[in-house]
Amino acid sequence: MMTVQRANADLFEALYQNFPDGIAVLDLASRFLSANPAYLAMTGFSSTALLQTSCLDLTAPEDKKRAEAALALVRREGYVRDFEKTCIVEDGQRIQVSMSLTLMPDRQQILVVTKNVTEKTRFHPATQRQVTHDVLTGLPNRVLLHDRLTRAIVRAQRQQGLLAVCAIDLDKFKPINQRWGSYVGDRILLEIARRLQIVTRDDDTVARLGGDEFVLLLGNLSGQDALFTALDSLLQILSQPFHTEDKIIELSASIGCALYPVHDDDTDLLLRHADQAMYQAKQQGRNQYKMFDVSHDAALQHTHQLVKQVGQALHAGELVLFYQPKVNMRTGEVFGLEALLRWQHPSKGMIPPLDFLPQIEQTDLIVDIGEWVIEQALQQIAVWQAAGKDWSVSVNIAARHFQRADFLLRLQTMLASCPKSVHERLEIELLESVALGDIEQVNQQIRAIQVLGVSFSLDDFGTGYSSLSYLKHLPTETIKIDRTFVRDILEDKNDLALIEAIIGMGRAFNRKLVAEGVETVAHGVLLIRLGCELAQGYGISKPMPATQVLDWAVHYQVDPLWQKWADVRWEISDFPLVLAQYDYIEWVNRLLVFVDARQIPEDHAEIDNEYRCRFGQWYGAQRNVLYRQLPEFAAIGEVHHQVHDCAKQLVDAVTQQDERVIRAQRKRLLTLKSRLLVLLEALQFSLRSACSQCDRLSAQTS
Ligand code: C2E
Ligand code: MG
Ligand code: MG
Repeated sequence: MMTVQRANADLFEALYQNFPDGIAVLDLASRFLSANPAYLAMTGFSSTALLQTSCLDLTAPEDKKRAEAALALVRREGYVRDFEKTCIVEDGQRIQVSMSLTLMPDRQQILVVTKNVTEKTRFHPATQRQVTHDVLTGLPNRVLLHDRLTRAIVRAQRQQGLLAVCAIDLDKFKPINQRWGSYVGDRILLEIARRLQIVTRDDDTVARLGGDEFVLLLGNLSGQDALFTALDSLLQILSQPFHTEDKIIELSASIGCALYPVHDDDTDLLLRHADQAMYQAKQQGRNQYKMFDVSHDAALQHTHQLVKQVGQALHAGELVLFYQPKVNMRTGEVFGLEALLRWQHPSKGMIPPLDFLPQIEQTDLIVDIGEWVIEQALQQIAVWQAAGKDWSVSVNIAARHFQRADFLLRLQTMLASCPKSVHERLEIELLESVALGDIEQVNQQIRAIQVLGVSFSLDDFGTGYSSLSYLKHLPTETIKIDRTFVRDILEDKNDLALIEAIIGMGRAFNRKLVAEGVETVAHGVLLIRLGCELAQGYGISKPMPATQVLDWAVHYQVDPLWQKWADVRWEISDFPLVLAQYDYIEWVNRLLVFVDARQIPEDHAEIDNEYRCRFGQWYGAQRNVLYRQLPEFAAIGEVHHQVHDCAKQLVDAVTQQDERVIRAQRKRLLTLKSRLLVLLEALQFSLRSACSQCDRLSAQTS
């Protein structure tokens, strides 16, 4: 055993001394521990001089970053092969070297074998290499990729094979780079380059276009199945986490694929289409691959056109803002307006925002539009203030715009030209989706902007996936309840329950609540009773041009019904009464469906016994003393009794096919239903008035 080890040591020593290429041993900080004679001869340094330097000291400045990354990779992965760099030797000369680095088994030292390749690269000078290769990874760059792609197409033609052009983009690389610095970022890119080289065959090409964009050319594929298998393993290897000395960074990539000859036969188109498919993979949730889709391309062409037209419209002054008032339904006060974009098209007329904004929101044009909207709103606030109206104006800001690093700075510049009283009336409406990126970053951005006096609301609340989490993390002063919930509260018990829950949450988090889409007086009444008194909607006013707003405000009068409810404090404990009312409407409607189809309802018992239907159960179980004292409560019982009497007669008439009685009783049932609803509302009203009186009395006596 001893002799074998000794023989190995002798062999190594002999190799070390006589090897034609340079061999050096470095410590983990890249300082020289020893170097063989060939290394000393190559660099011109004496052994003593060399031992005082590090391998990086000998590296040309332009290659230093790459060399650091390569050394880090060796420390982690154990080896790096054929790393080329420019080395500055003792007399200041520059030589080209190719290095292979290996981590020694003790993991404390690095063995570097260095070959002088200056002669070889003389015909391929470094400058030439930089034209065709990426400096960081040494992979072919865009220039060489075109050349390779052209050749790959020729080869595929010859072999009648399939060629896949895959555009690869790392997911969330930017935040990684921002968080851990470009040093770690570079190491990750080198690692990705290494992984891509591992999975590809000799004939394939891996290129880096810049940033975290790579392209893979997979040639000679037997069919799409072979491609899918390759793409699956590619995704798998790219999503392995990246380990540094002290952290683990999760990685994944999105891949887009275009095929020759299936999709295109032109190099530029193949690359562009692979890129589009990759973008789609990102949009659909990242960490996946997508094949290029022709119909998607047509949609994209349309988007390009639209973006161009809207850009021109912005400059031609065809975009306008309409303003929709927001009022307090209790007091009738107009407290603000929402600015809503319209496109006044010269030939097509007024185009609503949702017909063009969704496509624009994917482009930077939304930033120009958003800034224009803010500027307009600021001017409008000042105009209204000059007219004695201190209204707040809210603007809708797209996620892409709000998340820009320079948003705050640009907003500050815009605010600088107007007084503080104007800043304080600007409100930014953010969609829940804004927070999809980095919720903590959005939170900080909101806070920084609030310092300037600007306030926020969370728009379309309840429609996103993470409403609760946004509510918790985003410090917006206001929540706007989405109009899809408000719309159906009069008919849909579930939506009513949802609104009630949202209002409860809003209160718990101490936020102002604005209901969107209040279309009728009845919507408003119910909302007031549930505790949401701020509203916006067609029932108050449709959006209108700025010039009409002052006049509208002069004539605006809050609906008498809202005034009627204004002083009545509705409690959540009264909520079952509201639900009982819904049950009632539902029960009657269901019965009429059967009657109109001349059928008998299955559940007779509910009709025969007036305490078995849901409303009857509620009525019978009502132990609330306050309710029982009110005259309306007894009257409700009487009408409910008549309703059941009427229902029984209807069922009998259907059985006997007596059309005359059916008609008469049907009419009676509807009248009774209306009467009962009026009584129910009166009961609720008296009840709350009584409570308010009690509250007042007890306040006076205490
Ligand atoms: P939003 O911010 O939720 O604005 C409310 C939308 O509901 C407006 O539609 C408004 O006209 C409509 N609305 C208000 N009350 C009622 C009602 O009672 N019933 C019905 N059915 N609809 C009502 P609009 O103006 O078409 O805007 C649609 C969306 O477009 C906005 O929804 C907002 O997300 C976006 N948007 C509008 N202007 C801008 C803008 O300047 N920038 C950005 N990024 N987005 C905007
Ligand atoms: Mg809005
Ligand atoms: Mg909204």
